[in-house]
Amino acid sequence: MILFPTAAPCGGGSREEQRLGRPTWAEVDLAAIAANVASLRRFVGSQTQVMAVVKAGGYGHGAAPVASAALAAGATWLGVSCLEEGMELRRARIAARILILGHLPAEQAPLAAQHNITATISLPEQAESLAAAARPLGRRVAVHLKLDTGMSRLGLSLPELEDLLHLLARHQEIKVEGCYTHLACADEPADEATAEQLEGFGAWLARLRREGFSFALHHAANSAGAIHFPESHLDLVRCGLAMYGYWPQDPVPGLELRPALSLRSRVVRVTRLPAGASVGYGATYRTTRPSVLAVLPVGYADGVSRALSNRGSVLLRGRRAPIAGRVSMDLLTVDVTDVPGITLGDEAVLVGRQSEDEIQLEEMAGLAGTVAYEVMCGLSLRVPRVYLDERRKH
Ligand SMILES: *Cc1c(COP(=O)(O)O)cnc(C)c1O
Repeated sequence: MILFPTAAPCGGGSREEQRLGRPTWAEVDLAAIAANVASLRRFVGSQTQVMAVVKAGGYGHGAAPVASAALAAGATWLGVSCLEEGMELRRARIAARILILGHLPAEQAPLAAQHNITATISLPEQAESLAAAARPLGRRVAVHLKLDTGMSRLGLSLPELEDLLHLLARHQEIKVEGCYTHLACADEPADEATAEQLEGFGAWLARLRREGFSFALHHAANSAGAIHFPESHLDLVRCGLAMYGYWPQDPVPGLELRPALSLRSRVVRVTRLPAGASVGYGATYRTTRPSVLAVLPVGYADGVSRALSNRGSVLLRGRRAPIAGRVSMDLLTVDVTDVPGITLGDEAVLVGRQSEDEIQLEEMAGLAGTVAYEVMCGLSLRVPRVYLDERRKH
């Protein structure tokens, strides 16, 4: 049997285990998620619904808690990437509409239909399996159709879409509720590709309308589309990044976003070293003076990229201290020679705010040669998520 660890890590373990948890944790401020959703709603206006995209475990924040906070703040849809992620939300007793944005294999169509998790059709062959899954339920099953307007990954071509609509018109058990596309370059507002994609999408929809096909929900925008291309708002915007508090590009007026996530740990050892001592695997760091090093029980197995070796920094006592030597699987070492008074148990901030300083996720991502998305999704399951409204004492 293959077990996929899709369950939200935050729920794992007994209360006692959680209370006595390892001194490395991610803090998730659900009030920030709610405020971001509320601000996005105001920004896109009352004609446009907000879908909270909670795939990949809510971008590492924990899918169910984020979904609940977003729904309470006025999001009306949840977006996931696969059936398992939708099922996790259903198991958390979340009844809201859920759209699978990614691929749904034919074998999974019955489960999706039973649990009222809406599929995207992005391959003509999916229509038959979804219709077959709907028949025994005795009710109509909604689907959204995804059109490829330039991303060239998943999505139907216009001829495929037209054929499919004619086919589905004979399948009473399927209700085509939505039609959407996905933007490739919306985080580059100057790039003309987005306008071309949106114009193409609009022209195709107009043509379908003339053939008598209409949809209750048209959508195209991810966070970047929602922020930089008002013409992409349509009936619904699908927001991940912005809901978690990050800007795809420079901030714009009229929208307020604040990051919900921080990553924290505690000093488990303080070492005094003479000049000339080497630190960590490969001895890539060598002290040039009598030095003080602090060891943190967090490493690349938790999602702190090894690319931060000798590059990243950590906040301790409100000061920045450089990561010294290689980030290893479970530990990293910080040179705290210039941070007086470091003691066992001091809180270290790898991402987030401490006193007057802040290490932004984007900064950490940039140093690691990647984007905020990948850092968030890379936070591993063994990092306990602590939700600020039920904050445990550390
Ligand atoms: C992940 C995803 C989104 C959300 O993208 P963000 O850039 O995080 O807002 C929107 N639409 C689709 C189809 C997606 O797969």
